[in-house]
Amino acid sequence: MVSENNEKESLASTAYWIAAVRAHETERIDRLFDDPWAALLAGQVGQGWLDRIATIQTQANRMSTDYRISLHWGKPGQEWGYPALRFETAIPKNLADAFERASPENLVDVLAHREEAPTELGTVIRTKFFDDFLLHATREHEIRQVVILASGMDTRAFRLTWPAHTRLFEIDQSELLLQKRQLLASVGASVTCWHRSIGADLVEGPWSATLMRTGFDPHQKSVWLIEGLLPYLSESAVLHLLDRVTALSAPGSRFGFTTANGEMLTSPATHIWVKSMAEMGIPWLSAMDDPEALLAKRGWVATAVQLGEESANFDRWPYPVVPRSVPNFPRSWLVTAVKRSSVKN
Ligand code: SAM
Repeated sequence: MVSENNEKESLASTAYWIAAVRAHETERIDRLFDDPWAALLAGQVGQGWLDRIATIQTQANRMSTDYRISLHWGKPGQEWGYPALRFETAIPKNLADAFERASPENLVDVLAHREEAPTELGTVIRTKFFDDFLLHATREHEIRQVVILASGMDTRAFRLTWPAHTRLFEIDQSELLLQKRQLLASVGASVTCWHRSIGADLVEGPWSATLMRTGFDPHQKSVWLIEGLLPYLSESAVLHLLDRVTALSAPGSRFGFTTANGEMLTSPATHIWVKSMAEMGIPWLSAMDDPEALLAKRGWVATAVQLGEESANFDRWPYPVVPRSVPNFPRSWLVTAVKRSSVKN
């Protein structure tokens, strides 16, 4: 049984994992973003995570052969026995070529030897997706308050080019933020906007009041981001967090977050991940089947996209996107939303 404190520490350690993924991406010639501090922030803990995740990925590849074949060995319009999937979308050209050369027997090898693991690539894509989202909100919609909740080792306050007068607040556990500040100061990293980091507990702490004391104005538009946190929280904690963000968001504010649907917790394809995360003391606890509906009730007009869809592809996601009409399929969501001027009931 993992104690509450250990669980918080385990959750904090996932921030180093994400930084390690961003460090990898930064080494690529065709990188989607540049995070020059990610390797420093990730450190040994981050590398340990990458090794652990690679082991789980190998286990997952082995255990879900049938599933993977039915998922990937598809042509538009074809149907598969398990799970019954009808592909309505075309397979991207780079994978389709590899499929042409592969037989079902060696397809798993083809998939195992592709360049990028889906877990890592998902993090890279979501980083780029939300970089663009935040920059768009501040540049095109003139939003001057940016709030990043559970920011972990996020360096957007240092690496993105913000419009003048942008004020960026980030909130996470205090020890983690202190370590981030110290590491960044040790290499002379400087911010590209007004910036405050706030150590607080997002589930139980009075962070809204602290945020306002630090200079956040709820009467002005703001843009919010919660990346890589919600599935680790209970459903009631997620709803409470959404309510708090909503209460602090003036009409016209924007909101971005990542989450996953219920199948992510129950599908045979994700079983090994669910089990491994629980064993590491950071179980996935909750899901969101219909982010648009949940947000609509709170006065937001939301759009959820899956990794690989046109706006979340960046010429890097090589897998077919399984349409939302296909039932019983695990999905990760990248959600963006705009606050309406009045809440309709
Ligand atoms: N958003 C960051 C990113 O994408 O790089 C970090 C994501 S990391 C997977 C999850 C983060 O949630 C960790 O930094 C952890 O400390 C933070 N976190 C988890 N529970 C929290 C809580 N109750 N209060 C504040 N931060 C929390």
